[in-house]
Amino acid sequence: MVIKNFVRLNVRKRAKYLCEYCHSPERSNATPFTIDHIIPQSLGGSDDIENLALACHRCNQRRYNFTTAIDPETQVELPLFNPRNQNWSDHFAWTKNGLNIIGQTPIGRATCDKFDFNDQNHDDGFIINSRQLWLQAGWHPPIDDPYEEDG
Ligand SMILES: [Zn+2]
Repeated sequence: MVIKNFVRLNVRKRAKYLCEYCHSPERSNATPFTIDHIIPQSLGGSDDIENLALACHRCNQRRYNFTTAIDPETQVELPLFNPRNQNWSDHFAWTKNGLNIIGQTPIGRATCDKFDFNDQNHDDGFIINSRQLWLQAGWHPPIDDPYEEDG
């Protein structure tokens, strides 16, 4: 089913025009971000706004129709971060330089790994280059996002 334009707009506004997974700014992109189904449509997920999240193309692609991921620290399979009933800042933080997302909880670590938030599973480093540019533009990281505690 096609998601109506006003629903799309409400999803984008609610997300403050950030990817709800990696917090990339939508305005950095040439086209609007995608609407992600938290419970995938293939698993019976609805078009209800409570099942929708704004996702950049990168996250949407990596999320595909997965709903769980493995925490690399414990090898336990966990549900992916759910932006509708969990707070980003409870599960993730930026490194001091604002370039990498660090999972702060088992769900945060599992999601970070599945979505490859820092290109840790690829050597292209495109997302890090992009964040560097967004930092210079003053678009990044989002104002309320936490930074990693001193270790
Ligand atoms: Zn994203």
